[in-house]
Amino acid sequence: MNRVIPLQPISSGVNASHLACDSITVGHREFEVLKERGQREVFCGLTGIIWLHRKIQDAFFLVVGSRTCAHLVQSAAGVMIFAEPRFATAIIDDRDLAGLADANEELDRVVGQLLERRPDIKMLFLVGSCPSEVIKLDLSRAAQRLGKTYAPRVRILNYSGSGIETTFTQGEDACLAALVPELPKGMDSDEGVDLLVVGCLADVIEDQFSRIFSELGLQSYAFFPPRQSGQLPTIGANTRYLLAQPFLTETARILDERGAQRLAAPFPLGVEGTEKWFAAVAHEFAVSAERFEKVIAPKRARANLGLERHRETLKNKSIFFFPDSQLEIPLARFLSRELGMQLTEVGTPYLHRQHLADEMMMLPEGTSLSEGQDVEKQLDRCRSFRPDIVVCGLGLANPLEAEGMTTKWSIELVFTPIQGFDQAADLAELFARPLIRRTKLAA
Ligand code: SF4
Repeated sequence: MNRVIPLQPISSGVNASHLACDSITVGHREFEVLKERGQREVFCGLTGIIWLHRKIQDAFFLVVGSRTCAHLVQSAAGVMIFAEPRFATAIIDDRDLAGLADANEELDRVVGQLLERRPDIKMLFLVGSCPSEVIKLDLSRAAQRLGKTYAPRVRILNYSGSGIETTFTQGEDACLAALVPELPKGMDSDEGVDLLVVGCLADVIEDQFSRIFSELGLQSYAFFPPRQSGQLPTIGANTRYLLAQPFLTETARILDERGAQRLAAPFPLGVEGTEKWFAAVAHEFAVSAERFEKVIAPKRARANLGLERHRETLKNKSIFFFPDSQLEIPLARFLSRELGMQLTEVGTPYLHRQHLADEMMMLPEGTSLSEGQDVEKQLDRCRSFRPDIVVCGLGLANPLEAEGMTTKWSIELVFTPIQGFDQAADLAELFARPLIRRTKLAA
């Protein structure tokens, strides 16, 4: 094993392909969801390291993987040449794969060197990959073993970012799920934080949301993950949590097990989604309707004004979503209801019935939903729709552009601050810009 700092970003899982439709009832509405299981074109969960390492500012992510994994992380990160990086890859080489070297010994040595050289690291994530899973390297045991050696200076955890049967936002879910057991438990049942916002948000958005919570009169709230690993919030039976991202299935499950209760809400994308997200908080913590309106009305008005200039570009334009980020359904809801776009097909890798129930209730009647992927069949459907814009992963964008279609990279929607009132216009612009560029090129 060597240490290197961070192409081959595409993970293609090939399975026997079959098609089936699932009928889902949400509230009083019935949805037919096309279920597909075939070849997928998605990034793997290692991609999440890019935004996770920016969020938790004293954490280090050590991928235990191949040169391919190293290239993926480095090329996705792109920058980081002037700062000491907080991610790296311990390369599993031929000797490890052939069983000639003891991978655990090698890993201990690499971790020892890293922690000796970097006293700023307070939390270390050992991140599993396809190769580490193939050679069955047990990173949870490694994390326990190393954790004992380096406690209390460094907390050592592990999760898998492997591309086997996963999609790229699941990396964040796996990381946060590994972090939930570390959250302190209050001595009394009401000793936890009242409200926990769960999911990585850009600092600028957290600051905006904090101001709104304060204006609504909330005193006890926290964001998870925190910016510093030593600031893990305490949770108790009084804790209500609100998902800020729609891809945190496992994290939510473990929080439920810890006794926290989820507040059902749409996601804070667009003006409407953001207002309803805050309304769920206001309702739970008995904020008066007058106070809520007083706080929200100016923000809503300003955000709606910002959307106005993009409506002309986006209204009646058709859009097709390939399944990738798991943000597809909230985005489709925003683009159809607030900007008048026409939904052709909304694909999502996984459709969490409970977490997305409020979102689905707001989709236009007859929205065509698909879950999972069989990429060739989906490409055929996309070509037959000939939508004005296609949202897809990087691997599909260039071929589709070459066929004359306009695309938006789904990964950009995760890297860009898009949540909240003040970002609603920026989010609309992400879809308007490629259409404007295409029009200019055609002129
Ligand atoms: S974890 Fe798997 S899919 Fe991801 S870069 Fe490494 S080998 Fe490729």
